[in-house]
Amino acid sequence: MPSSRSPGRAGRRVILFDVDGTLVHAAGAGRRSLERVLTGEFGRVEHALSGLRLDGMTDRLIVREVLVALGRRFEESLCDRILESYVLALREEIQGPGFRVLPGVPEVLAALAAAGATLGLCTGNVAEGARLKLARGDIDRFFEWGPEAIAGFAHDGEARELLVRAALDRGASRLGSALHPADALVVGDTPRDVSAARAHGVPVVAVATGRYGADELRQAGADGVLSTLDGAAPALLAWVEGGALPGAAA
Ligand SMILES: [Mg+2]
Repeated sequence: MPSSRSPGRAGRRVILFDVDGTLVHAAGAGRRSLERVLTGEFGRVEHALSGLRLDGMTDRLIVREVLVALGRRFEESLCDRILESYVLALREEIQGPGFRVLPGVPEVLAALAAAGATLGLCTGNVAEGARLKLARGDIDRFFEWGPEAIAGFAHDGEARELLVRAALDRGASRLGSALHPADALVVGDTPRDVSAARAHGVPVVAVATGRYGADELRQAGADGVLSTLDGAAPALLAWVEGGALPGAAA
């Protein structure tokens, strides 16, 4: 019977990346897109959006909170419609200035892909929104897309925990048996990424390339904290092969 140390286990390890603040900085393209759609739908909405801190929130939860702030009733069909229009707006807005791929990200993804590591996404974006943001930086090619891909997206639920669950389930069906939570790793940039992963027993490496600093992420319970992903490929590869978590306190 294979033990937890069997070589087969390392080959089953999966890294799940968040998108905004972790892989790319979209320079407000998502917020601008949503504002465009909501303005078209309801008139002026800046006041409803301006108070919201969107990082770490799922797109569906953002729509719910904005609708509540506008005094509107949340309905699933309305949310679906808003997010469909949002993707159309994002196609243009993502081309705006300020977009950047975060330091070291292409190198890390290329190294992991070259080594045959299984990569997935765990992001509050709708799938097409994530694809547009990553495509702008030419890093969408490192991920699979479509219903079978190992990923959790906004359509999997409003609560971020549901995205982690969905990614684990898709990972299990792709790998052919249960994906042990300890064999998945979430890489994200907010305390929400941390708490959502930990709710399922999935370890988290947090990167301080979003709004939150290393100390805040450590306090939130991240198992490992990195200032950026620059140079993180060897440590992430070592984890994939059964080693310790990158950025863990000694
Ligand atoms: Mg993020």
